Amino acid sequence: MKFFDSLILETEKLISPFPKKEFEVCKPWHDAQQAQVIMRRDTAFELEGVGFNIVTSGEIKDGIVLVGDNLNEIKDNRKFARITVVQIEDSDDEQKAYNLIKKIDYVKYHTFPDGYMMRSTSRSHKEAVRVSKQALQDGADFRKIGSLLIEKHKEIPAVIGVKVIFITAKEADYNETERIAEKNYAITETLNHVMNSVNFDCDTCNLKAICDEVEGMKELHFNKADK
Ligand code: SF4
Repeated sequence: MKFFDSLILETEKLISPFPKKEFEVCKPWHDAQQAQVIMRRDTAFELEGVGFNIVTSGEIKDGIVLVGDNLNEIKDNRKFARITVVQIEDSDDEQKAYNLIKKIDYVKYHTFPDGYMMRSTSRSHKEAVRVSKQALQDGADFRKIGSLLIEKHKEIPAVIGVKVIFITAKEADYNETERIAEKNYAITETLNHVMNSVNFDCDTCNLKAICDEVEGMKELHFNKADK
Protein backbone atom coordinates (compact mmCIF):
# COMPACT_ATOMS: atom_id res chain seq x y z
CA MET A 1 0.00 0.00 0.00
CA LYS A 2 1.94 2.97 -1.28
CA PHE A 3 -0.85 5.13 -2.68
CA PHE A 4 -0.46 7.73 0.07
CA ASP A 5 3.33 7.71 0.42
CA SER A 6 3.86 10.98 -1.46
CA LEU A 7 1.80 12.66 1.28
CA ILE A 8 4.24 11.45 3.94
CA LEU A 9 7.03 13.19 2.02
CA GLU A 10 4.93 16.34 1.64
CA THR A 11 4.23 16.34 5.39
CA GLU A 12 7.92 15.92 6.19
CA LYS A 13 8.74 18.80 3.86
CA LEU A 14 6.08 20.95 5.52
CA ILE A 15 7.46 20.49 9.03
CA SER A 16 11.16 20.39 8.13
CA PRO A 17 11.83 24.16 8.67
CA PHE A 18 10.53 24.00 12.25
CA PRO A 19 12.11 22.73 15.46
CA LYS A 20 10.51 19.42 16.43
CA LYS A 21 10.06 17.62 19.71
CA GLU A 22 10.02 13.87 19.35
CA PHE A 23 8.66 11.60 22.07
CA GLU A 24 8.55 7.88 22.60
CA VAL A 25 5.24 6.34 23.58
CA CYS A 26 4.49 6.79 27.28
CA LYS A 27 1.66 5.83 29.64
CA PRO A 28 -1.39 6.93 27.64
CA TRP A 29 -3.73 9.66 28.71
CA HIS A 30 -6.92 8.41 30.32
CA ASP A 31 -9.66 7.35 27.89
CA ALA A 32 -13.10 8.46 29.09
CA GLN A 33 -14.57 5.51 27.10
CA GLN A 34 -17.48 7.59 25.86
CA ALA A 35 -18.14 10.87 24.12
CA GLN A 36 -17.82 13.85 26.47
CA VAL A 37 -19.16 17.34 26.37
CA ILE A 38 -16.88 20.11 27.59
CA MET A 39 -18.86 23.26 28.31
CA ARG A 40 -17.49 26.59 27.18
CA ARG A 41 -16.99 27.76 30.76
CA ASP A 42 -14.81 24.70 31.43
CA THR A 43 -12.75 25.18 28.26
CA ALA A 44 -9.15 26.39 28.33
CA PHE A 45 -8.92 26.82 24.55
CA GLU A 46 -9.90 25.27 21.25
CA LEU A 47 -7.75 23.95 18.43
CA GLU A 48 -9.10 23.95 14.93
CA GLY A 49 -7.75 22.55 11.71
CA VAL A 50 -7.37 19.17 10.09
CA GLY A 51 -6.97 15.67 11.48
CA PHE A 52 -6.36 12.71 9.19
CA ASN A 53 -4.48 9.45 8.74
CA ILE A 54 -1.91 8.54 6.12
CA VAL A 55 -1.74 4.77 5.66
CA THR A 56 1.37 3.07 4.31
CA SER A 57 3.14 -0.26 4.26
CA GLY A 58 6.48 1.54 4.63
CA GLU A 59 8.24 1.35 7.96
CA ILE A 60 6.91 3.67 10.67
CA LYS A 61 8.32 3.71 14.19
CA ASP A 62 5.87 4.37 17.03
CA GLY A 63 6.21 7.88 18.41
CA ILE A 64 4.84 11.36 18.76
CA VAL A 65 6.17 14.44 16.97
CA LEU A 66 5.25 17.92 18.14
CA VAL A 67 5.84 21.00 16.01
CA GLY A 68 5.01 24.03 18.11
CA ASP A 69 3.69 24.49 21.62
CA ASN A 70 2.53 21.75 23.92
CA LEU A 71 -0.90 21.94 25.53
CA ASN A 72 0.37 23.60 28.73
CA GLU A 73 2.03 26.36 26.66
CA ILE A 74 -1.06 27.30 24.67
CA LYS A 75 -3.12 30.16 26.08
CA ASP A 76 -5.65 30.94 23.34
CA ASN A 77 -7.58 29.29 20.56
CA ARG A 78 -5.39 28.50 17.61
CA LYS A 79 -4.96 26.56 14.39
CA PHE A 80 -3.55 23.06 14.54
CA ALA A 81 -3.15 19.84 12.60
CA ARG A 82 -2.99 16.18 13.58
CA ILE A 83 -1.50 13.81 11.07
CA THR A 84 -1.37 10.15 12.05
CA VAL A 85 0.91 8.02 9.89
CA VAL A 86 -0.03 4.36 10.17
CA GLN A 87 2.02 1.39 8.97
CA ILE A 88 -0.04 -1.65 8.05
CA GLU A 89 1.03 -5.15 7.06
CA ASP A 90 2.01 -5.31 3.41
CA SER A 91 -0.46 -7.40 1.44
CA ASP A 92 -1.33 -8.14 -2.18
CA ASP A 93 -4.96 -8.22 -1.17
CA GLU A 94 -6.14 -4.68 -2.04
CA GLN A 95 -9.61 -5.32 -0.67
CA LYS A 96 -8.12 -6.19 2.70
CA ALA A 97 -5.95 -3.05 2.67
CA TYR A 98 -8.92 -0.91 1.66
CA ASN A 99 -11.06 -2.34 4.50
CA LEU A 100 -8.19 -1.64 6.86
CA ILE A 101 -8.01 2.02 5.82
CA LYS A 102 -11.68 2.41 6.68
CA LYS A 103 -11.23 0.61 9.99
CA ILE A 104 -8.28 2.83 10.89
CA ASP A 105 -10.37 5.91 10.12
CA TYR A 106 -12.96 4.80 12.70
CA VAL A 107 -10.39 4.82 15.51
CA LYS A 108 -10.79 8.56 16.06
CA TYR A 109 -14.51 8.09 16.65
CA HIS A 110 -13.79 5.54 19.37
CA THR A 111 -11.06 7.38 21.22
CA PHE A 112 -12.16 9.77 23.96
CA PRO A 113 -9.18 11.40 25.67
CA ASP A 114 -10.43 12.76 28.99
CA GLY A 115 -10.85 16.53 28.77
CA TYR A 116 -9.74 16.59 25.12
CA MET A 117 -12.91 16.59 23.06
CA MET A 118 -12.21 15.78 19.42
CA ARG A 119 -14.88 16.68 16.93
CA SER A 120 -14.88 15.67 13.31
CA THR A 121 -17.42 14.45 10.84
CA SER A 122 -17.19 11.42 8.63
CA ARG A 123 -16.35 12.38 5.03
CA SER A 124 -14.35 15.35 6.27
CA HIS A 125 -10.74 15.94 7.25
CA LYS A 126 -11.61 18.86 9.54
CA GLU A 127 -10.91 18.36 13.21
CA ALA A 128 -11.67 20.62 16.15
CA VAL A 129 -10.51 19.96 19.70
CA ARG A 130 -11.79 21.52 22.89
CA VAL A 131 -9.35 21.21 25.80
CA SER A 132 -10.68 21.50 29.34
CA LYS A 133 -9.05 23.52 32.12
CA GLN A 134 -9.22 20.39 34.30
CA ALA A 135 -7.25 18.33 31.77
CA LEU A 136 -4.46 20.91 31.81
CA GLN A 137 -4.41 20.91 35.61
CA ASP A 138 -4.21 17.12 35.53
CA GLY A 139 -1.19 17.22 33.22
CA ALA A 140 -2.59 16.46 29.77
CA ASP A 141 -0.08 16.91 26.98
CA PHE A 142 0.37 15.83 23.38
CA ARG A 143 2.73 13.01 24.29
CA LYS A 144 0.09 11.33 26.47
CA ILE A 145 -2.78 12.07 24.06
CA GLY A 146 -0.69 10.78 21.15
CA SER A 147 0.21 7.66 23.15
CA LEU A 148 -3.50 6.98 23.66
CA LEU A 149 -4.15 7.35 19.92
CA ILE A 150 -1.27 4.98 19.17
CA GLU A 151 -2.57 2.42 21.67
CA LYS A 152 -6.06 2.55 20.13
CA HIS A 153 -4.72 2.16 16.58
CA LYS A 154 -2.63 -0.80 17.62
CA GLU A 155 -5.70 -2.65 18.85
CA ILE A 156 -6.13 -3.42 15.13
CA PRO A 157 -3.91 -6.49 14.58
CA ALA A 158 -2.69 -5.47 11.10
CA VAL A 159 -1.38 -2.12 12.38
CA ILE A 160 2.38 -2.31 12.89
CA GLY A 161 3.58 1.21 13.61
CA VAL A 162 1.97 4.58 14.35
CA LYS A 163 3.43 8.08 14.40
CA VAL A 164 1.23 10.95 15.52
CA ILE A 165 2.31 14.41 14.37
CA PHE A 166 0.76 17.41 16.11
CA ILE A 167 1.36 20.85 14.61
CA THR A 168 0.53 23.93 16.69
CA ALA A 169 3.24 26.37 15.57
CA LYS A 170 1.66 29.70 14.73
CA GLU A 171 3.97 30.14 11.73
CA ALA A 172 3.12 26.74 10.20
CA ASP A 173 1.48 26.76 6.79
CA TYR A 174 -2.06 25.60 7.57
CA ASN A 175 -3.15 26.12 3.96
CA GLU A 176 -0.64 23.43 3.13
CA THR A 177 -1.88 21.03 5.84
CA GLU A 178 -5.37 21.60 4.43
CA ARG A 179 -4.13 20.84 0.90
CA ILE A 180 -2.42 17.62 2.00
CA ALA A 181 -5.58 16.60 3.88
CA GLU A 182 -7.71 17.26 0.80
CA LYS A 183 -5.38 15.24 -1.38
CA ASN A 184 -5.46 12.41 1.14
CA TYR A 185 -9.25 12.53 1.00
CA ALA A 186 -9.24 12.59 -2.83
CA ILE A 187 -6.97 9.52 -3.00
CA THR A 188 -9.22 7.71 -0.51
CA GLU A 189 -12.30 8.58 -2.58
CA THR A 190 -10.57 7.36 -5.75
CA LEU A 191 -9.68 4.12 -4.01
CA ASN A 192 -13.29 3.84 -2.94
CA HIS A 193 -14.39 4.24 -6.58
CA VAL A 194 -11.75 1.80 -7.83
CA MET A 195 -12.80 -0.87 -5.33
CA ASN A 196 -16.53 -0.47 -5.87
CA SER A 197 -17.17 0.79 -9.39
CA VAL A 198 -17.52 -0.90 -12.76
CA ASN A 199 -17.02 2.34 -14.68
CA PHE A 200 -13.67 2.00 -16.50
CA ASP A 201 -13.88 4.93 -18.88
CA CYS A 202 -10.92 7.08 -17.86
CA ASP A 203 -11.75 9.76 -20.44
CA THR A 204 -15.02 10.61 -18.74
CA CYS A 205 -13.99 9.79 -15.17
CA ASN A 206 -13.72 12.76 -12.81
CA LEU A 207 -10.97 10.98 -10.85
CA LYS A 208 -8.54 10.93 -13.77
CA ALA A 209 -6.28 13.61 -12.27
CA ILE A 210 -5.66 11.49 -9.17
CA CYS A 211 -5.20 8.30 -11.18
CA ASP A 212 -2.67 10.05 -13.43
CA GLU A 213 -0.70 11.13 -10.38
CA VAL A 214 -0.89 8.16 -8.00
CA GLU A 215 1.21 5.26 -9.19
CA GLY A 216 -0.64 1.96 -9.38
CA MET A 217 -4.19 3.31 -9.03
CA LYS A 218 -5.17 2.82 -12.68
CA GLU A 219 -3.61 -0.65 -12.75
CA LEU A 220 -5.61 -1.58 -9.67
CA HIS A 221 -8.88 -0.55 -11.31
CA PHE A 222 -8.16 -2.42 -14.53
CA ASN A 223 -6.91 -5.48 -12.65
CA LYS A 224 -10.21 -5.55 -10.81
CA ALA A 225 -12.01 -5.39 -14.17
CA ASP A 226 -10.18 -8.50 -15.33
CA LYS A 227 -11.31 -10.51 -12.30
S1 SF4 B 1 -8.65 4.04 -13.65
FE1 SF4 B 1 -9.79 5.41 -15.00
S2 SF4 B 1 -11.93 4.91 -14.63
FE2 SF4 B 1 -10.75 4.04 -12.92
S3 SF4 B 1 -10.85 5.61 -11.36
FE3 SF4 B 1 -8.99 5.96 -12.53
S4 SF4 B 1 -9.53 7.45 -14.11
FE4 SF4 B 1 -11.41 6.62 -13.26
